[in-house]
Amino acid sequence: MQVIRTLESSFVAETRVRMESFSLLAFEPGSEERHLPSALQRWFKDGRLGLPGDERAARAVESGLTEAIHRLARGRGITHVCRVLGSWETVPERDAPLETLAASVARCLGAEFVRPMRRTSAREPMSRHSYLSGRGALSRRIDYARQDLIWEGSFAGARFLVLDDIRCLGASESVWAAACIALGGAADAVAMNLGQTAGLAEDGETATDIGEIREAALASRGAPRAFFEQVWLSPQDRTVHSDPSCRAAADITVWWRGLLKPGCKPCPLCSPRRGVLLRRLFRGIGG
Ligand SMILES: [Zn+2]
Repeated sequence: MQVIRTLESSFVAETRVRMESFSLLAFEPGSEERHLPSALQRWFKDGRLGLPGDERAARAVESGLTEAIHRLARGRGITHVCRVLGSWETVPERDAPLETLAASVARCLGAEFVRPMRRTSAREPMSRHSYLSGRGALSRRIDYARQDLIWEGSFAGARFLVLDDIRCLGASESVWAAACIALGGAADAVAMNLGQTAGLAEDGETATDIGEIREAALASRGAPRAFFEQVWLSPQDRTVHSDPSCRAAADITVWWRGLLKPGCKPCPLCSPRRGVLLRRLFRGIGG
């Protein structure tokens, strides 16, 4: 067992510069009710934490994310996949949202899913501490990310994929990648994040489109089509339109039906319910 605190900060910083890092989607904090990629990431992050969630939808989303990650990671000789621990975890919990995704990514890449990291105690997320944002925050975040981690295992020559949910400045991924290399003996590491917090990191490019994730999710076995049905949300008045050219639709954004929050109302002009009623009415007249 090795304590991550002992890793040289200069080595972590070098790793961060050298390492390839990918983020699938942009994440806009506080915009989960008007920015679909953020809503999806929030749903995925919260979905396995005891909140009500559709298990089939979770599996389909996981399949879509796996496909997107696979597209970026294949051909890179990945031999091992590990996932970053949530701040509440001291050991990798089996029902953590990233756990089954990491296993699925590993299967898809023909790599081994491993759990080399522990934490001495649960801690608060970085977002709770104001000193971890602003000018010069990266080095403070690196120190915060490594303070309580313990590494175990030897993976000589491995090429790691380090999976995390939402990247801010890339502190966690660089601590984990540096540990893989310096403590685990890995040859290299690639970071893969579901999201990149918008406007934070200069190197925070996003690599995929939510439409591709939706298509891959829908193509998976047992995907609940209703969850992925495209609707148009007017975030101002939380009205849901089925037709983007509806005359009542203003300032709309494309959405998935399964990601609508309680309290959203179907538009009385274009909602499918109206169509069903009309069809029933006409059938009634005809028959
Ligand atoms: Zn409408």
